[in-house]
Amino acid sequence: MVESLTVNLGERSYPIYFGSDVSSAVRVQVDALVAEGRKVMVVTDRNIAHLQLDALRDMFGGQPTLVLDPGEETKSLRELGRVLDFLAENRVDRGGVVFAVGGGVIGDLAGFAAASYLRGIAFYQVPTTLLAMVDSSVGGKTGINLHAGKNLVGAFHQPKGVFIGTGLLATLPPREFAAGMAEVIKTGLLGDADLFAQLEHAALTVNSPALAPIIRRCCALKARVVEADEHETAKEGGRALLNLGHTFGHAIEQVTGYGVYLHGEAIGIGLATAARLSLKLGYLGATEVAKVEAVVKAHALPIRLREPLPLAALMMAMSRDKKVRAGSLRFVVLKSLGEAATQAGVDTALAEQCFREVGAV
Ligand code: ADP
Ligand code: ZN
Repeated sequence: MVESLTVNLGERSYPIYFGSDVSSAVRVQVDALVAEGRKVMVVTDRNIAHLQLDALRDMFGGQPTLVLDPGEETKSLRELGRVLDFLAENRVDRGGVVFAVGGGVIGDLAGFAAASYLRGIAFYQVPTTLLAMVDSSVGGKTGINLHAGKNLVGAFHQPKGVFIGTGLLATLPPREFAAGMAEVIKTGLLGDADLFAQLEHAALTVNSPALAPIIRRCCALKARVVEADEHETAKEGGRALLNLGHTFGHAIEQVTGYGVYLHGEAIGIGLATAARLSLKLGYLGATEVAKVEAVVKAHALPIRLREPLPLAALMMAMSRDKKVRAGSLRFVVLKSLGEAATQAGVDTALAEQCFREVGAV
C-alpha cells in the first residue's frame, strides 16, 4: 500500500509517497507524463543499475537512462556536464522530466541538472539510500561539490514528488545503512523526543518493522521545518537546526578528505561532540550525553575519531564552514534530547575542548 504526506510550499507543494514497493506508483506517474507528451529521463548510478535492475525496469520500462559512477566524486562539474549533455542530446524540452534514482549523490546532482537545464525543468526523487530517504531527497536542496569544498554550487529546486520505497534498502551495504541512521538519530534529537526514545529502546535495522514508520516520521519533521523556512533565511532556528552535529562533522570530513569517513559516520561523531558542547553550555547533563553516545554507538557509528586529527586543522575547517557568520562560531545545540536551538557567539575554547574530548590533538 502506498501512503503519502504533503510538503506544503504553496505552488511548489508536493507529495512524498511511502510504501515497501513504490514501483507501480512511479510507473503510473511515468505513464501519465509520457501520455502528456513529456520526455522522462532517468539518472542513476551503476550500483543501483546492477542491484535494482528489476525495480528500475518496473518503474521506467525503456525510458532513456544515464548510469553514472557511484560515489561522492560524481557530484562534480564534469558529471553535471554529462547529465546536461544527456538531456540536450535527447532533445529534452521544457516539458521534460528528470527522475533521480539513487542516494544523495544522484539526487543532488540530477536535481541540480534539472534546476539549471533550460532554467529549470521538473524532477522527481526516488531515493535508494536511508540517508536520502530521511534527509537529502526532501527539501529541495540540490548541488555539486567543487575542489574547494562540498556543496559550494547549487540551487533550491523542489521536486514534484518523492517516492520512498523501503524495499530498495535490502541491497544497501550495512555501512551505508548505518550512515543513514546518523540522520535518523539527528532528527530524533533535534525535534522528536519519542523517536529518540524508541532508538534508545532498540537499535533499528533494515529488517525492523519500525523502519518504515520511522522514515515517515523523519520526512514529516523535515517537511515541517522546510515549510517554515524554505530557503534557510530564518535568523534563528529554522532549517539550520537540521545541521545538528554538522558543523563538527563537516570539519572532520574536510580535514580527513572526503571518503575516509562516510558523511553519516562524521555526523555520528558530530552528534556526540554537539552533545558535549550542550553539556558545557549547561543545557544537558552527563547522563543525557551518555544516552546520545549510546544510541550512536548502538547503530554502528563512531563517537570518537578513529585516528587523532590535528585540532588546528579542524578549527580552521570549522571557521570556513559556510554556516559560520562574521567570525563568531555558531552551533546547533541541544536544549534537551528532542529539542535543538541555534546558538551564536560560542567561545572558540569550548569548541576546542569538545573536539579534544573526541580525539583531536
Ligand atoms: P548518500 O545517500 O549517503 O549521500 P550515495 O549516493 O553516495 O550516498 O550512495 C551511497 C552508496 O550506496 C553508493 O555507492 C551507491 O551506489 C550505493 N547505493 C545506493 N542505493 C543503493 C541500494 N539501494 N542498494 C545498493 N547500493 C546502493
Ligand atoms: Zn547530513
